[in-house]
Amino acid sequence: MLHPKSGPDMTTPRLQLHNSLTRRKEVFEPADPARVTMYVCGPTVYNFAHIGNARPAVVFDVLARVLRRLYPNVVYARNITDIEDKIIAAAKEQGVEISTITDKYAAIYREDMGTLGVLPPDIEPKATDTIPGMIAMMQALIDNGHAYAAEGHVLFNVPSYAEYGRLSGRDRDDMIAGARVEVAPYKQDPADFVLWKPSTPEQPGWDSPWGRGRPGWHIECSAMIEKHLGTTIDIHGGGIDLQFPHHENEIAQSNCAHGNAPLARFWLHNGFVNIEKEKMSKSIGNVLLVHDLIKEAPGEAIRLALLNGHYRQPLDWTADGLAQSRRMLDRLYGALRALADVEAKASNEAVPSAFLEALLDDLNTPKALAVLFDLAKQANTATDAAEKVRLKAALLASGALVGLLQADPESWFAGMGMTPNINLEEIEALIAARAAARKGRDFKEADRIRDELAERGILIEDGPQGTLWRVAS
Ligand SMILES: [Zn+2]
Repeated sequence: MLHPKSGPDMTTPRLQLHNSLTRRKEVFEPADPARVTMYVCGPTVYNFAHIGNARPAVVFDVLARVLRRLYPNVVYARNITDIEDKIIAAAKEQGVEISTITDKYAAIYREDMGTLGVLPPDIEPKATDTIPGMIAMMQALIDNGHAYAAEGHVLFNVPSYAEYGRLSGRDRDDMIAGARVEVAPYKQDPADFVLWKPSTPEQPGWDSPWGRGRPGWHIECSAMIEKHLGTTIDIHGGGIDLQFPHHENEIAQSNCAHGNAPLARFWLHNGFVNIEKEKMSKSIGNVLLVHDLIKEAPGEAIRLALLNGHYRQPLDWTADGLAQSRRMLDRLYGALRALADVEAKASNEAVPSAFLEALLDDLNTPKALAVLFDLAKQANTATDAAEKVRLKAALLASGALVGLLQADPESWFAGMGMTPNINLEEIEALIAARAAARKGRDFKEADRIRDELAERGILIEDGPQGTLWRVAS
């Protein structure tokens, strides 16, 4: 006998995500729809974030927005790694406490990501606030034979975990090959990795059963997830560069400390960011810092450039691509500006199904953006009042789901606070003076003002609604 299916299951498309663990796209169902949990590895705060660091922040911000649209309670945690040897080195070099370094760069990170439209996560745990949880987890791993203490260190014994390498398809031998340094004599197996290491009196450290020391990077995430989200979370995200060994080690630690309960049901990884077809590296000198980019381009254009490609694919960052993103936003905001007098509400229902379906299909942002452009195109030719209301609401509601188009169109065209050499009142005054000149048939003066504006980076267009202006991109 056939059972009638409930309405929503038949009609509502379901979220599908590519799970790195199974290497295929799967329908996402949270373990508990009343509390959906997501963790993303956050920054190590000792310098400025580059565009490659910004990609996971933006991608998983979009996923968090989509999850919130689908579920009433989403808990998204993105950590701050605030103890690490590079931080210690930076603090020593500058003669300050590590917290001086980490507080400064954590604040800059939040501000820079905010400029890209990244909403703050629900929880932002700091590694240094989670030391007792790390110690308890290490003790549990020692007690059940997966870790051991040696010479002030605590190490995870890789051969003790048979499933090591399942996520990345790499194994113990890769771990050994990946170790650039000579194998420390206290290691039982060359692949074993550090959970805890001793600190000298000058180095920051915490008391532990194995002496004063500090945690390794991998154990931090396992302990923060356990403390804030639970034993098994729904989604764990991060850049593909973290898949091995970092995520592999997180899995080994958490599974072995939790009687083999999985750490995450879905693992998501975003692709690399290359710069003008080259790998970003300090030696090439092509590292692009978000902090610098936001001085040259609106944060929203940088965000759009990051979402123009599918998150799993490598992204080739180019100056042309960024300029193109600005022009794309000019088009989208242009459509919204033309609808300035239309009253419309950006409700959930206003999101067109084609837009939502694209996002539900493993966050297909390129496809979703194509829908957005189609809406703008329709808006530019719409004459019917109800149609204009529908299109404006659709543009705003869809934009909100990917963190775009939430600014006032006028401020977008004013360069979002980065207008070169000119302020809003000056522009308006010059445009009014030009209108007066034209009215008095002084076309020479009108052209002079147009040229002056152009020289200062402002382009004007005369249309049925009067003169519109924008910052040249
Ligand atoms: Zn992590």
